[in-house]
Amino acid sequence: MKVIDDIAGIRSYVSAIKARGETIGLVPTMGYLHDGHLNLMRMARKLSDHVVISIFVNPTQFGPNEDLDRYPRDFERDMMLASSVGVECIFHPRPEEIYPDGYATYISVEGLSNVLCGVSRPTHFRGVATVVAKLFNIVEPDIAVFGEKDYQQLVIIKRMVDDLNMKVKVVSHPIVREKDGLAMSSRNRYLSAQERKRATVLNRALKRAEQMFRQGERDVYRIKNILTDMIMQEHGCNIDYIEVVDANSLSRLQTIERRAVVALAVKIGKARLIDNIILDPT
Ligand code: AMP
Repeated sequence: MKVIDDIAGIRSYVSAIKARGETIGLVPTMGYLHDGHLNLMRMARKLSDHVVISIFVNPTQFGPNEDLDRYPRDFERDMMLASSVGVECIFHPRPEEIYPDGYATYISVEGLSNVLCGVSRPTHFRGVATVVAKLFNIVEPDIAVFGEKDYQQLVIIKRMVDDLNMKVKVVSHPIVREKDGLAMSSRNRYLSAQERKRATVLNRALKRAEQMFRQGERDVYRIKNILTDMIMQEHGCNIDYIEVVDANSLSRLQTIERRAVVALAVKIGKARLIDNIILDPT
């Protein structure tokens, strides 16, 4: 497995693969890999000849009071895990390589970026869209795999790819969970043992929403109320948002008559956790 930290290096690596007529699958990550990430890589492996991942804690997607500096990092371990699932190359640039002095260009996917997580993280998706567009330009992948865990991010990246006529095919992977239902996340590391137990309320609440939906409930207000109560009863859990939105436009729904996403963000101790579930009445 190759580790490349500069743009010139990855470009010549990619050219050689393309010259052989092979396809490239890209999995962008911020590292501190877990089984969720590894499943995305396995999927990329199945869908392309060559898997490249990026490990880059992207400063532009963190707000001023967020966890950029303490975001967990373990590159040695990441290398081992990535190579165990057949990744051929890790692109691991330094921030100055991606954002050199004088850097001034950003991509803003309007509308979709200022709902849900965009309310409390107003510059987050501008940073995400910018770095992903740059990675697409640098690596020129045939496919790129993103997790449904970050559902809003997935919708925004798909919109950007369509709007800017990018050639890459965006593929999504379902949420990978721990045995007790907690969605895997690098940020779960911030949780104490007690908080870790409490954090299962996110998935329990989403499952409750799914159960209500299966039993015929279509009223968003009633679903949100039950979920809010469940989470508020769990000590130390602070709700950032609970929303039920259209799965494509991310606009708020009052009644679930088309494919919808129940999305939530909850702060527990030092961690802000997100999770979601798709409800499809069709
Ligand atoms: P991150 O390193 O958090 O930026 O995540 C990199 C990619 O992995 C994104 O496409 C995420 O949506 C995806 N991902 C992270 N956690 C999970 C999970 N538990 N299940 C599925 N995909 C995930």
